[in-house]
Amino acid sequence: MLNLHRLAHALSDCAIGHTIDYHHTVPSTMPIAHELARQPGTRSGTVVVAEAQTAGRGRQSRRWEAPPAQALLVSVLLQPPIHVPVGQLPMAVGVAAAAAIESSQPRLAGHLGLKWPNDLLVGTCMADAGKVGGILMEARFDGGGLAHMVAGIGINVHQHAADLPAPQPGAPPPASLDHFLERQGCGEAAPLDRTALLIALCRSLALHVSPAMNGSELLMRWRQRLWILGEHVCLYERGEVVWSGRAVDVDADGQLVVVNGAGEARRFLAGDVSVRST
Ligand code: ATP
Repeated sequence: MLNLHRLAHALSDCAIGHTIDYHHTVPSTMPIAHELARQPGTRSGTVVVAEAQTAGRGRQSRRWEAPPAQALLVSVLLQPPIHVPVGQLPMAVGVAAAAAIESSQPRLAGHLGLKWPNDLLVGTCMADAGKVGGILMEARFDGGGLAHMVAGIGINVHQHAADLPAPQPGAPPPASLDHFLERQGCGEAAPLDRTALLIALCRSLALHVSPAMNGSELLMRWRQRLWILGEHVCLYERGEVVWSGRAVDVDADGQLVVVNGAGEARRFLAGDVSVRST
């Protein structure tokens, strides 16, 4: 179980995680964070965390599965003023999560990447990567514009191979941090601690959404983590292939640029498509 005293002590003065709304089992942490946002007095940076979810959500109504107390399952509430432009928030959260995981165990340094737009990868490159986490960004708007954002972050920490969901064709197979370290022959290394990982995640998020984070620096860090760049990919929309080619770049709005065999480039917004290796 997560250590709530340690969390409270370590995060009391942090812009993210100063308030932890802890649950044992919930359907999903996402609607709880949205509901908290509607309650007067809720502070931006409040984090909803659960040991287990019975209806964890991925993108486009997909499911996020994790056995109790084996993963980090959190939703982070961000309310205006948010210093990072909304279009760059997925970058900030992805880069922050990857950096936090690397910092939590020296043997993970250099082994965390991202698959556009929202998967956290562990490995060395796309070819050997495992999917160790996912990020789900949900925005709510009111008459005045953005009301709030919720960043859902799921990170597989202790799952054994048998506890992970079945791999999907073209997508990196699910992996956990413990499982990766074991396969690297680092099973004897200091065990991962979900409480320490959550503290590192909150601090890293606070840094990456702070006014100190410069937009071009953030884009550069995101690019460096995107192992999909340079790979041949297929883009799917509602299960159909809509484009294929080489993923060459991402732009400042987070769109993926893919050049097909005829040299034509198309840009894709994360909301519309899924990318798979060919
Ligand atoms: P996209 O590339 O469009 O994001 P995706 O398949 O990665 O597609 P997500 O919404 O990111 O979709 O994640 C949900 C999918 O991830 C599920 O359909 C399942 O295949 C897989 N999945 C579910 N739980 C886990 C987990 N704990 N670890 C890794 N993968 C998982």
